[in-house]
Amino acid sequence: MASHLYSKRLLYYDGQAQSTRSRQTFRSIDPSTGSPIADIEAASQPDVDAAISSAESAFPSWSATPPTARSRILLRAVAILRERNNELAEIETRDTGKPFTETSTVDVVTGADVLEYYANLVASGGLNGETTQVRPDAWMYTTKTPLGVCAGIGAWNYPIQIALWKSAPCLAAGNCMVYKPSEFTPLHAQTLAEIYTEAGLPAGVFNVVNGAGDVGAYLAAHPGIAKVSFTGQVSTGQKVAASAAGGMKYVTMELGGKSPLLILPDADVDQAVDGAMMANFFSTGQVCTNGTRVFVPEQMLEAFEKTLLEKMQYVRLGDVMSEKTNFGPLVSKVHYDKVLGYIRHGIDVDGAKLLYGGPEKPELPEGSSVELKNGYWVKPTVFTSCNDSMRIAREEIFGPVMCVLPYATASPSYLDDLVARANDTPMGLAAGVFTSNLSDAHKVVARLQAGITWVNTWGESPAEMPVGGWKLSGLGVENGRRGLEAWVRDKSTLVEMGGSVASAFAKL
Ligand code: NAD
Repeated sequence: MASHLYSKRLLYYDGQAQSTRSRQTFRSIDPSTGSPIADIEAASQPDVDAAISSAESAFPSWSATPPTARSRILLRAVAILRERNNELAEIETRDTGKPFTETSTVDVVTGADVLEYYANLVASGGLNGETTQVRPDAWMYTTKTPLGVCAGIGAWNYPIQIALWKSAPCLAAGNCMVYKPSEFTPLHAQTLAEIYTEAGLPAGVFNVVNGAGDVGAYLAAHPGIAKVSFTGQVSTGQKVAASAAGGMKYVTMELGGKSPLLILPDADVDQAVDGAMMANFFSTGQVCTNGTRVFVPEQMLEAFEKTLLEKMQYVRLGDVMSEKTNFGPLVSKVHYDKVLGYIRHGIDVDGAKLLYGGPEKPELPEGSSVELKNGYWVKPTVFTSCNDSMRIAREEIFGPVMCVLPYATASPSYLDDLVARANDTPMGLAAGVFTSNLSDAHKVVARLQAGITWVNTWGESPAEMPVGGWKLSGLGVENGRRGLEAWVRDKSTLVEMGGSVASAFAKL
């Protein structure tokens, strides 16, 4: 067998790497070259059963461990993640194709930040309940208890970040987790499990099963699972939520979007263009919160397009480990075909005006290695003069394809019309507005149907900020104080101290 860049990835439970009983493997591919970089062992159903039973065995002791003691272990994992940042970031770059300039500054960093946030939160009273004196002789208190064994199912675009955004609040709250990474980007999962073990996490608290949708479906439907936290497409989320509903399981659904970015007439053009580029080309457009519907006032259109074209030269393809590269390939051949299909549809069927990019292979910088020619590279693409009924402006493409939608400002109700157009989508993940008028910013944001909104910026998602979608984009939130609530159940207790029981059945 040919040797790959990385060693074979196994399953992980009972505190150690485990070989699959299925004897089946699949491969992880470097999207920048199309070459295999590791073999991955796929879980069979008995492997998933074994991982769940490992988590079940660990739960009584882990859930009874005081939050401060759990916190100390998780903070040790944070330190290891930060020490190994560049090595982990390189794994993410090879697995996803995202440039190292991105993975080394965002992916591991934001994952470790969230782990640190929840470790600190539970150690400082984040799991405390409420107490109310109901009357002098009675009081009521609430307690938060962990749910049990939870499933985490990840998408391929932010692999280790997603694993940490799920496992951090889950474990901090006293639950155990069986985590399934995306089959396209599974390399981080075993490494993260090993880091948790090195930090002192007891065996069985964090477990990994690898595989495709069938493994995810079996895991989500398993009677041993109390909650499913899922990140992925709307259509998959609908299936997972339906399967979880049968078992009355808790769910968190972090799904896709087709988010609007509203540039108001008084916005600074330069800033608006920077925001629109971040909202469309960061991570080669493979960000769930992308602002792909960019609404630009007609009178600003010319200046906006001119500035955008000038700045498109700062999108730099090339060796994904180079410090110059800020734009990688798409994650897989399947996804490459899907995104190119949308670009062709935009030109051939929607009849949108192509301002930049297109379906041809992009030029790679002079001196690039021959291997890069086989990667899943696309041109960052801008369609302009789009309208709301075009397919490219309605469906999530999840690639570097910006749709510029001009709007008129002559009518006194133009802001109402603009907000109505922005909200005219079944999804509601993110939205944003660029303006120099703060009161307009707040008024518009208040009316946007989205769970994550930005004013005069795009994309930042610190640990303190709860994030989750409205409408078809999801259920519940991750991160922030609210994100912890998704991993506990509440118990209310009323205590009577008056020495008599209020009864409807007293003697007349
Ligand atoms: P996907 O839905 O194809 O797969 C996601 C995960 O679900 C994978 O691990 C996959 O193996 C698993 N899966 C597939 N079928 C399943 C089934 N029937 N039951 C259980 N699990 C199953 O999504 P993807 O293509 O990996 O990711 C891209 C999507 O994720 C985009 O739509 C993007 O917007 C979304 N996303 C959302 C967020 C968010 O926070 N809202 C973040 C990242 C990505």
